[in-house]
Amino acid sequence: MTTIARIETFLVAPRWLFVRVETASGIVGWGEATCEGRSETVRTAVHELAELLTGRDALRIEDHWQVMTKGAFYRGGPILASAVAGLDQALWDIAGKHFGAPVHQLLGGPVRDRIRVYGWVGGDDPSEVREHIAAQVEAGLTAVKMNASGRMSRLASVSELDGVVARVAAAREVLGPDRDVAVDLHGRFTLANARRVAPLLEPYRPMFLEEPVVPENSHLIGEVVRSTTVPVSTGERLYSRQDFLPVLQAGIAVAQPDLSHAGGITEVRKIATLAETYDVQLAPHCPLGPIALAACLQLGFATPNFLIQEQSLGIHYNLGADVLDYCLDKTPLTFVDGHVERLTGPGLGIEIDEAAVRAADKAGTVWRSPVWRHPDGSYAEW
Ligand SMILES: [Mg+2]
Repeated sequence: MTTIARIETFLVAPRWLFVRVETASGIVGWGEATCEGRSETVRTAVHELAELLTGRDALRIEDHWQVMTKGAFYRGGPILASAVAGLDQALWDIAGKHFGAPVHQLLGGPVRDRIRVYGWVGGDDPSEVREHIAAQVEAGLTAVKMNASGRMSRLASVSELDGVVARVAAAREVLGPDRDVAVDLHGRFTLANARRVAPLLEPYRPMFLEEPVVPENSHLIGEVVRSTTVPVSTGERLYSRQDFLPVLQAGIAVAQPDLSHAGGITEVRKIATLAETYDVQLAPHCPLGPIALAACLQLGFATPNFLIQEQSLGIHYNLGADVLDYCLDKTPLTFVDGHVERLTGPGLGIEIDEAAVRAADKAGTVWRSPVWRHPDGSYAEW
C-alpha cells in the first residue's frame, strides 16, 4: 500500500527544514522544504498541505503537485512553492523506493555518469578569496562561486568597482585557465552598477554572473545581458515556469531554480525543459542540506541541459551541522575530482539518519537573513 499515512517536519541545524512522508506499508520518503530565514512559516504551510495528501496514493505525484500548487485559490511565491517542493521530493523518494529505482531512472534514465559540482568561497563579504579558493582546489573542486562584493552603494564608487575587479582577478590567478569562477552579485547591485561592472569582469572570463538585479526587477535583466559578453544567470528567487519565462526571453544563459523553492523535482524538471528551448543551461541553486542536494543531482542525471551543481559543504552558513552529518552513508555525496558519481540507490539515493534528525529538531534552530544598512542609515540589499 502506497497510501500516505503520516507527514512530519523537522527544523534542524544549521537552517534546514526536512519533510518525512510515510506510507501505510512503511515506505519513508524524505524531502527538503528549506526556505532560508522563513522555514518556520514554510513548516506551517507543509502541515496545511498535508491535509490534501494524507490518505491518498503517494504515487500520483503530478496530481498531488497540481492540487497542492493550485488547490487553495491563492497561489505562488516562495512559501507555498517551498512547502510543495519538500513534499514533492519526498513523494519522488517514495516512488523510487517503491519501484526499486533511483529517481533519475524514473525521469527517463541517466544522460551522464557524473555531475560537476562547485563550492562557495569568500563568505558574505569576500575578503579572503585567495585562501578559500586554494582550499577548494586542494579538495579537488574545479569550480567555485564567490560574492562580487559586500554591501554596495547605489552608484558604486571607484574603489568599490576596483574592489570587485581585484577580487575576481585574484580568483582567476589562483584558479588558472582550466578551472571556473562564478560571480554572484546577489541582488546587491542596481542596474547601473551591474551594467558598469560586468564589462570590467570580461577579461577574467567568469563562468557566469549571477543575480545582477533583484528578482522584482527581472524586467531589467535583459539590459544586463546586452551590456556584456559574460553569461548572465538568475533564478534562485523565481518559483515557477511562469516566473522563469521572462528571464529566458531576456537572454539569460544559465537558469538557477532551487529544487526546494520552486515546486520540487516536478516543477524544476519542467523549468529545465522550458530552458532547453531557449538554449539555456541549468545550474540549480543549492546552498542547502543533503536532501535538497540529492534531489538536484537526481534531476541532473536525467537532464540534458544541465551545467553544474552548487553544493554547500563547508559553506559559511553551515554552523552546527554540515551536509553529510545527517547521512548514514556519506559515500553517495562524496566528491571525486570535483564530481559526484551517479547515485545508484533507490529514490533520492541517500539514507537519512533519522535519529540524528529527530534529535536536531528537538534541539531547535533559528536562522535569519542579515539586515544590512548603508552608511546613511537606509536599507541595503544583502
Ligand atoms: Mg545567489
